[in-house]
Amino acid sequence: MNLKDLKVDKSWTLFLDRDGVINVRLIDDYVKTPDDFKFIDGVPKAIRHLSAIFGRIIIVTNQQGIGKGLMTESELKKVHNKMLARIIMLGGKIDRIYYSPFKKEENDITRKPQIGMALQARKEFPEINFKKSIMIGDSISDIIFGKKLNMKTVFVSNDLALINKNFKIIDLTVNSLYEFSEIFNK
Ligand SMILES: [Mg+2]
Repeated sequence: MNLKDLKVDKSWTLFLDRDGVINVRLIDDYVKTPDDFKFIDGVPKAIRHLSAIFGRIIIVTNQQGIGKGLMTESELKKVHNKMLARIIMLGGKIDRIYYSPFKKEENDITRKPQIGMALQARKEFPEINFKKSIMIGDSISDIIFGKKLNMKTVFVSNDLALINKNFKIIDLTVNSLYEFSEIFNK
């Protein structure tokens, strides 16, 4: 798929996973405090660029560390405040952050790959059209989430085995959000 052929404009929405797309994912751990939160290189700049192209940018993130009692919702808010402050300082914007605090085994409708967070977003922003939306994530559950809603899907990965196994539901693979944002350079 050539994303340039889609003619993305302000009627489009960008859905972003957080861990592994925006910030460095911690192996077998959760980002529990602002100090744990480290942007992946180039991300604030990429978001500034994408903010000028997409009508809305929405984060959808599974945060089962809350359900497991390893962190609180107020700690998550502090992490997000740090993230947003930096993004805004560099001229980008995030319209809304949705998170699912439930443990995997609770199988809640809001936990990706289920689509609850996207439905919450469309309720709050009724102009969102999933067919004119792109979901970017580093897990196959993000890709399934996007495909269930007929979004375009972008996989942030260099795991060739995983990419090949799931090629039918991945529209585009990139190494980073920054690389994705460069698609829209003139
Ligand atoms: Mg992720």
